[in-house]
Amino acid sequence: MLKIENIEVVYHHTIQALRGLSLEAPKGKIVALLGSNGAGKTTTLRAATRLLELENGRVCEGLIEFNGKPVSSMTPDGLVHEGLFHIREGRRIFTELTVEENLLVAANALRSRSAKPNYDKVYEFFPRLKERRTQTAGYLSGGEQQMLAFGRAMVAEPSMILMDEPSLGLAPKIIAEIFETVRRLNAEDGVGILLVEQNAQVAFSLADYGYIMEGGQIVLEGEVSKLQNDPDVRSFYLGMSADDEARESFRDVKHYKRRKRWLS
Ligand code: ATP
Repeated sequence: MLKIENIEVVYHHTIQALRGLSLEAPKGKIVALLGSNGAGKTTTLRAATRLLELENGRVCEGLIEFNGKPVSSMTPDGLVHEGLFHIREGRRIFTELTVEENLLVAANALRSRSAKPNYDKVYEFFPRLKERRTQTAGYLSGGEQQMLAFGRAMVAEPSMILMDEPSLGLAPKIIAEIFETVRRLNAEDGVGILLVEQNAQVAFSLADYGYIMEGGQIVLEGEVSKLQNDPDVRSFYLGMSADDEARESFRDVKHYKRRKRWLS
């Protein structure tokens, strides 16, 4: 269970990115975190896995716990050993290593938690990676690189994976393949997922619960079934407004009103 309570995050001592943000990603559940560009989604994940320092950012208020322990007492490596794996934005694989070497590096995270890294499972989920296992990862397609990023997470046998916009720049067919794997890993192994996405359609098809953030805060949360029926969510994130037929010139005005309603 990942619990974030009322955190404030500041970059470079001056730029406030998160303002009193709280959320929970329970064990074994899939939770979606949606929001527009700059809302603070990536910052939230970085705060949870202690990667803020790399960006000269700091959690200056609030508390983050993973499995009941404050993450501030652990290093980013220690958190991986504890079972929290962060697939960062932009895939972040080792482009000069082969597919198998990338998995091998991730297996270091296992240390005492399991004797033998389970590559077979990764190759079963993604047969394409098996075919390309001796190829240099930098020459894989975008979709294959995302599969490898996910495979690296699988090898570390986490209890929770944080995923930062895995669908970005990928074709719908590849997105469906990757998300089917996420669903299987959750259903078969009970791995919890906190999924940051701009593609709400995809996120809602998978998640149990969702949070919507704007301006560094959570503005709406609830079961996905509830969010899907919220008129603001339908209009902003699913492109399905009852006012679709309304004149273009009113669009900005309506959006402004809705945003105000969210934030009030
Ligand atoms: P996107 O969908 O565009 O990735 P996001 O919701 O993930 O957006 P963040 O990247 O977390 O948003 O950014 C939140 C705020 O923090 C923005 O105002 C952004 O400019 C600022 N920010 C993010 N990273 C840094 C950084 N390394 N240094 C300074 N400010 C940053």
